[in-house]
Amino acid sequence: MTAIRHDWTREEVRALLDLPFADLLARAHAVHREHHDPNAVQVSTLLSIKTGGCPEDCAYCPQAARYATGVEAEKLMSLDAVLAKAKQAKAAGATRFCMGAAWRSPKDRDVPKVAAMIGAVKALGMETCATLGMLTDTQAQALRDAGLDYYNHNLDTAPEFYGEIIHTREMQDRLDTLGHVRDAGLKTCCGGIVGMGETREQRAGLLQTLATLPAHPDSVPINRLVQVAGTPLAGTKELDPFEFVRTIAVARLLMPRSMVRLSAGRAEMSDELQALCFFAGANSIFYGEKLLTTGNPDTERDLALFDRLGIHALQVEVESGTVHADILDPAPSCAAA
Ligand code: SF4
Repeated sequence: MTAIRHDWTREEVRALLDLPFADLLARAHAVHREHHDPNAVQVSTLLSIKTGGCPEDCAYCPQAARYATGVEAEKLMSLDAVLAKAKQAKAAGATRFCMGAAWRSPKDRDVPKVAAMIGAVKALGMETCATLGMLTDTQAQALRDAGLDYYNHNLDTAPEFYGEIIHTREMQDRLDTLGHVRDAGLKTCCGGIVGMGETREQRAGLLQTLATLPAHPDSVPINRLVQVAGTPLAGTKELDPFEFVRTIAVARLLMPRSMVRLSAGRAEMSDELQALCFFAGANSIFYGEKLLTTGNPDTERDLALFDRLGIHALQVEVESGTVHADILDPAPSCAAA
């Protein structure tokens, strides 16, 4: 069985990314088979509970208030509206429901409102996930007490490239929130975005940072930049799709037990590219709802692809003890989960 390591060096990660493509995929797939059912993919649903108007300046994000992207700032959804969406997702087979808000961090007055949503979704017998921006330790504990299972907070990119993408916070802020989330006993969902103009070396930096966290994230969303007109990254040179597959494969090799998730950018991927990603070790997708503010392949296409590849939706145990198909889950930026 492959050892679980937290001491990966940048040189080791870079050497994996540099492997001949067939050698890299063979190694990643072998590790994938050791730790996971290679024909099972976890599926989740994401709901944007508070869209747009964000004060941060993440260069990839259409929800930043400072960019003219056509995304209108909305208020926090009502509890009833969120619950109705969660019931729909459950009826479609989802076992995990993720709620995303375009905040730098929640205000203390927002926490009880989100806690009520978490409690209500949890009462449906679903796993809960949230992505709300930076959290204090007491906010993380309050969300856990409300029944939160997972918290999504992405590192976005390599430490040395971070300052070119975001100027309103630092990577250390992200690491601090992840520490609060872990300390509160929540499961972590943490990945990044590729295709933002970073080099392969910088992709190695992102992957190494993820794999040397005190605990590997339970879920690792790997997002491919969705270029949105009006954001600073619109017009960025497209990432070679094989580089994206390499990133997935190395994530699988570095973090063998984590769920590696195809997140934002999946709508733009061909079926063949998605199949390569599944072979390389991806075993989670978002399905059924819009991935925050970017499109997501429609349900029929996903089901048809699963059928063609002989993939089934992962079955998971939820707290009630009932087993559901985990059909639906979303991801990256705070919002690109
Ligand atoms: S990624 Fe999140 S924090 Fe950054 S601008 Fe978008 S909503 Fe705000």
